[in-house]
Parts: sequence; structure tokens; C-alpha cells
Amino acid sequence: MEKVVSRFLRYVRIHTESDPSAPPGVLPSAAREFDLARLLVDELRELGLTDAHVDEHCYVYATLPATPGCGALPVIGLLAHMDTSPDLTGKDVNPQILHYDGGELVINRELGVVMDAEHFPELDRFLGEDLIFADGRTLLGADDKGGIAVILQALEDLIAAGTPHGTVKVAFTPDEEIGRGPLGFDIPGFGADFAYTLDGPAPNEYAYETFNAAQAQVTLTGLSVHPGSSKGLMKSALLMSMDFNALLPPLETPFHTDGREGFFHLLSLTGNVEETRMIYLIRDHDSARFAERKAVMEKAAEELRRRWGSDCIRLEITDQYPNMAKWLEDKPEIVALAVAAMRLAGVEDPVAVAIRGGTDGSQLTSKGLPCPNLPCGTQYAHGRYEFVSVQALTTCKEMVKHLVSADLVKRVMEENL
Ligand SMILES: [Zn+2]
Repeated sequence: MEKVVSRFLRYVRIHTESDPSAPPGVLPSAAREFDLARLLVDELRELGLTDAHVDEHCYVYATLPATPGCGALPVIGLLAHMDTSPDLTGKDVNPQILHYDGGELVINRELGVVMDAEHFPELDRFLGEDLIFADGRTLLGADDKGGIAVILQALEDLIAAGTPHGTVKVAFTPDEEIGRGPLGFDIPGFGADFAYTLDGPAPNEYAYETFNAAQAQVTLTGLSVHPGSSKGLMKSALLMSMDFNALLPPLETPFHTDGREGFFHLLSLTGNVEETRMIYLIRDHDSARFAERKAVMEKAAEELRRRWGSDCIRLEITDQYPNMAKWLEDKPEIVALAVAAMRLAGVEDPVAVAIRGGTDGSQLTSKGLPCPNLPCGTQYAHGRYEFVSVQALTTCKEMVKHLVSADLVKRVMEENL
């Protein structure tokens, strides 16, 4: 069995589901994330990365020092997250490897977990490959233990082969799936010039664009009186909420949009006549259109005040994460290096995907650590259909080896001077 696969199978068996119900300041959200962190520290030390350690918030850091003569090369960071999504349990993951020759793939007959290319079109890309699944009861956790396995195996191979490289920094983080990954990340301590998260799907897809993201909290205040004698008196906060939503563009929702189209997403609506609260997600890749979306909301609030009085609505818009593209466009060598590494790993058609979401990298980039996202092969993450192919893991591992090898880094830096 390929070493990257046996590594991967070892990591997915460790339960590291993050816990969204943990109080906001608690990091990591679940103490079990330390179980994997400690194992990874041991394995990093076995590889000779003697400074490997895990801090009190469950961030694992380690350094692979530059080989002789390569100390002047940029310091490259490699990142992956240790937690798995709380969308489906990651306890007692029992992986299996199924060869895919087309047709039906039975993950679990008893539970009716069966896949075919008609319902899961991505499957078509993996004809003839060996796919690693869980057993239909849990998620697999290739998101993002695939990334961890790929990074560690690439380092092991690189060291064994004596390939020249600059300084490589490694970090494994907790709580990415609940949006807290960057919170405790020590960017100055990490000391990388730029980094890559290994947390993407198919081996030919990379990303340096994410949404710009904000959340809007809308609080509507009404006045309740007996409906039989309320003419001119009653103000229904529930009806106001419908008014508000009707003032937003009806075809700009997640249901109606894809690619680079942004949206408003009504995430929750709770209330009664006296008070109703709505939470919206605002998303757009384009910064100008993102600003316009916020303005549309402000205008809708203004209109409601005109209809129902100045105290009827409170609108609070909070930025969540920015599109990392605006930082990375100034440093084209970072993306160029990734694309060159993909090609050397045998990927013929690298393609940039604008992520319809965020990554840990979006926040790290905005805080000063440029950090595009590279693939680790995960498909259909966060559920029982999640899989990664043996071939994809191997390709991504080769990509990481090239990504930090002195030959390629020197060539790409010179080309982008
Ligand atoms: Zn992930």
C-alpha cells in the first residue's frame, strides 16, 4: 500500500469532529482534536523536524530547515486542518477502498448508501481509480486529513530523496470547519513568506479567490394589540420581515446563482408580532458588488422606516472574511508556483476555481500570510458520500514535493521577477 494511503487511513480513524456548541472563546472547541495533534507531533519529530510541537490551543507547528545553500529561498508554509465537519459524525470511521469501473458503487447496502454517476457527476472523473470511502455511517474525514497525509508524506519523500529545498514551515490547525481555524494562528511565529492550505477537491483545481462575506442581522420591532381592535395601531414585525425580504432582488439567492454570481441568503427567521429577527449571509467575489449588496440592504431598511416608522428596524452588518484575490494578484509568483507544481505532478489541466465560500486562507491572507488553496483530492465532503481516490492522494503528494523543491521555486521566482 502506498505510504500516503496508510498515513491517511491512520489519521481518519482518530475522531476529531469540532464542536460548534463550544463557547466562542474556547479553542480548540473539542479536546479530542489533541489526540491527532499529539500523534502528528510524534510523526513530525520522527521525520527529523525537531521543533515540532502543539500549543495550548491545539495548533501544531514544525520546521523543515533548508538544505545547504537554499537558505535564501522564500520560506513556504504548508497548512491543513485536523478537525472534521460536525455535519455528520466522524466517530469510529471505518474506511474501505472500492475500485470504480463505472455503474453503481455500493458504500453500504443495508443503509442504502449507493452512488452512481447520474446523481454524483464527479464520479465520472475517477473511472478506473481506487476510491477510499467510510462505511456509510460516518463521514470519511478526507477533508482535511487528506491534506495532512499529503503534506507529511511529501516531506518524508523529500527528506529520503535528499531533494534540495528552502525552509518549509508546517502547521496543522483545529476548528476550521466551524470557522475558528485562523483565530489562534500565530502568523509571525509561523514565519512563512507565503503558504498554501491543502484543503481542496480534484487534483486539477486550485483557488485564490473566495467570496467576500458578511452577515446581516435584522431586528424588526412591532406593536401587538388585539387583532379585532387594532386598526391603525398594530404593527406586525412578521409582516415587516416579509416587506424587507421583498425589497431584495428575488433571483439573487443561493438557489439561483453559481460561478461568480453573488447572493443574499436568508439563513434564519424567528419571531412574532412584537419582534422578528432575520439573519442573512451576503456573498460576492467582486468587492464593488459586495459593497453594493450592503447598500441594497441599507436602502431596504430605509424604505421600511418610511413605511413603519423610524424605530421599526435595526440592521447590523458584520464583515466575516474578504476575498483573498486582491492580495494575491500583487504576488503572481505564489499562484504560478502552485500551477507549475501541479503540472510537474502530472496534472494536465490546472484550473483556477473561484470558491463559493471561504477558506482559512482567506483570513490568513488578509492578516498578512498569503495563502491560496490547493487540492488534496477530497470529493463530496461533509457527508457519508465523501471519498478520496488513492491516485488523487498520490498526485497531490507529488505536487507538494515539487512545490517546495529548490529547482522549481528558483525557476518560478526568476520568471516572476
Ligand atoms: Zn476542509
